[in-house]
Amino acid sequence: MVQESHEVISRKHSLTTRALRLAIFRIGLVSLSAGAISYYVNSTSIEREVTGQLLLSTEQSLQREALPFREIKDLQQNFLNEFKEILSRPGMQARLVNDFQQIFYRHEDGSYTQRPQLFEGQPLADGRRFAEMSATYAPDIAPNDDTKARFALSYILSHKYGSSTKGRLFNFYGVVPEKGFPIYQDADIAKVFTYSGPEALKLETYEFFERGFGTPGNDTLFTRMYWDFSNNAWMTTIATPDVADASGKHRILACVDVLLDELMKRTAKPAMHGAYSTLFIANDEGTLIYHPGVMEQVKSSEGKASIQSLKMAQYYPLLEAVPALAPGQARIVQTQDDIVAIGLIADTPWALAVHYPRKLMTPAVLDNLAIVVILGLLTLLVEIFILRSILQKQVAAPLFRLIQAARLLGISKERLRAQQLPTQSSDEIGELARAFATMAERVQDAHEHLELKVQGRTAELEKANRQLYELSNTDGLTGIANRRYFDEVLHSEWRRSLRAGTVLSLMLIDVDYFKKYNDHYGHQAGDDCLRRVAQALKTHALRAGDRVARYGGEEFVLITTTTGIDKALEHAQAICQATQDMALPHEMSPFGRVTVSIGLAVMAFIKEGTADELLKQADQALYSAKARGRNQVVLADSVVRKIV
Ligand code: GH3
Ligand code: MG
Ligand code: MG
Repeated sequence: MVQESHEVISRKHSLTTRALRLAIFRIGLVSLSAGAISYYVNSTSIEREVTGQLLLSTEQSLQREALPFREIKDLQQNFLNEFKEILSRPGMQARLVNDFQQIFYRHEDGSYTQRPQLFEGQPLADGRRFAEMSATYAPDIAPNDDTKARFALSYILSHKYGSSTKGRLFNFYGVVPEKGFPIYQDADIAKVFTYSGPEALKLETYEFFERGFGTPGNDTLFTRMYWDFSNNAWMTTIATPDVADASGKHRILACVDVLLDELMKRTAKPAMHGAYSTLFIANDEGTLIYHPGVMEQVKSSEGKASIQSLKMAQYYPLLEAVPALAPGQARIVQTQDDIVAIGLIADTPWALAVHYPRKLMTPAVLDNLAIVVILGLLTLLVEIFILRSILQKQVAAPLFRLIQAARLLGISKERLRAQQLPTQSSDEIGELARAFATMAERVQDAHEHLELKVQGRTAELEKANRQLYELSNTDGLTGIANRRYFDEVLHSEWRRSLRAGTVLSLMLIDVDYFKKYNDHYGHQAGDDCLRRVAQALKTHALRAGDRVARYGGEEFVLITTTTGIDKALEHAQAICQATQDMALPHEMSPFGRVTVSIGLAVMAFIKEGTADELLKQADQALYSAKARGRNQVVLADSVVRKIV
């Protein structure tokens, strides 16, 4: 029973369980909120960090990539300055015309190429060498001295500038508008340009030529990127024309072919891990130079593919940002999937965009989140452990002992004492335990006191009951047993005698002439007389089993257990005699004193008949005694007969 209720307490209502559940709920909530906050803070700070790094590394790239183009521009400017300065020297034209004659020779169709073996390094008569140079002059316009001088000077300077940058730039050439084309080529991959007829010299079909000489301006131009099939390489041509004359005509165009492989390789591998780059012309179309996914389309379109033409919608924000871009400075543009740093490469028409896919930040954010969640769980475990031990040991267990003690209060003093109450504890539970112990003591004392009192009262009550019982069986006038008592006793004595085989005798004793006594002496005296007779009867009913009672009026009854009829008769006669011997005067009686008549009935050794029959016989015998003159004993006939 106690065990059972313990389980109920510990399972359903346990403070510990409830507190633990609350702790789990609370710390779970805190962890969740902390996780959410950490997620937000982390993702913001990681994005900020990524953005910062992206800007920095992109600006470094922008500056680094601008350097060679700056150099090319300077080189071309120097070439043009030197070209102009030499041409303006007096007498220089004649010398250059002479050079023209030495270097070139005329084909039948009016075109010119350089003399054989010059590419291989054979010297002129004056010892000058122009190794790795090629040159052609289209037959369309017959050269005059001015043209010859410019063509020869361009040849000489192209060799000078080309050889001075050998290995770094691909081709260096100064083109004259009459379609003269002297070119310095890097020997490692170049071959001497051999003249194969005027069809090969349609320079006007080339973008650099058309754009370079097409306008009077002298800005540096970049051609579209093109795939060079002979070298299997992406290239672009950078060209700067000289300042046009008054009629808007140029005299020379400085050109450099640039291999884009290295630039593309660097672009393909941005400094930031996981990032990728796009390089495109900063125009409305976004003509692509490099994008990792679409190089096949760029190649098949001969460098015309663009963000617009390929419908690369996720990069449209980049195009929108282009007008606001500044050379060498990067800015952040958000696209659907990426954070993008974009800027113009100075001294080029190109925009470099470095894309950082946002999903790369997720692991870092999740790592931080995991740390927060793990910390939360650890806290939870520690709190659960602490709560459990504190609540179980210091609260639940002592409370349980108190509950058990409360249940035992007033039931078992010994078991209550055996309960070890946590009265030593200094906390509230200790306080409760001490208060409970005091209360238990008081209750116990009160209980004991009450028990004693109840015991006392019960004894008194029993005594009163006994007295009441006696009173109810006692005759008020004479103080001997009454008729009620006699009726009870007669039947029980009858059965007892039957069981024990003893002889029960019954005497009905009636005062003679008592009406007259009353009439003569008064009722009060009558009562006294009855009391005297009763006392006399009492003295003759002293043996065990003798019972005397007032039967009613002036009649008394006596039952005795005797050994035989004679003894019973003797006993009755003794009573009769004793009454007479009391000598209570009765003037109205013929005997002059108070006497009694007795009807005696004796139960024989028979199993039939009843107590009432015995009474009836005694009554008849009494009647006979009265009839025979009173103051005598008459033994019931039937009994005598039976005994005889
Ligand atoms: P018998 O000799 O035939 O017995 O005549 P008796 O006068 O004694 O009998 P009876 O039955 O005629 O009268 C009995 C009287 O006993 C009548 C009544 O007044 C009187 N008596 C009955 N009970 C009491 C009592 O309690 N006190 C007194 N004083 N008298 C009583
Ligand atoms: Mg009578
Ligand atoms: Mg009488």
